[in-house]
Amino acid sequence: MCLMPKQQIHESYKRNKEDLLLTCKRCQSTRIIGINGHTSDCFSLVYGGKEYNGYVVANMNIGDGGDDVEFKYCADCGQIQGEFPIKEKTIQDEIREGL
Ligand SMILES: [Zn+2]
Repeated sequence: MCLMPKQQIHESYKRNKEDLLLTCKRCQSTRIIGINGHTSDCFSLVYGGKEYNGYVVANMNIGDGGDDVEFKYCADCGQIQGEFPIKEKTIQDEIREGL
């Protein structure tokens, strides 16, 4: 169940409205879907045989280290928008912080 007040949903919609103007970095499609999910400390990630639990990881194109999973992806080619490749050190640093 989403506990976000309607007003806040409206505000975040307005904030994200400019995202509708994005074009895909891979295929230049303008069909970009923006995702936001509030995890309330229930975020987990599996990588390289390790499981991480805690805040949403930062610097990996899926959020900024808080409670919200936020990313954008292309409805045509599936590309998650952001900076790739993600450096191995970045991943290790992010998942280490949550252990
Ligand atoms: Zn695309």
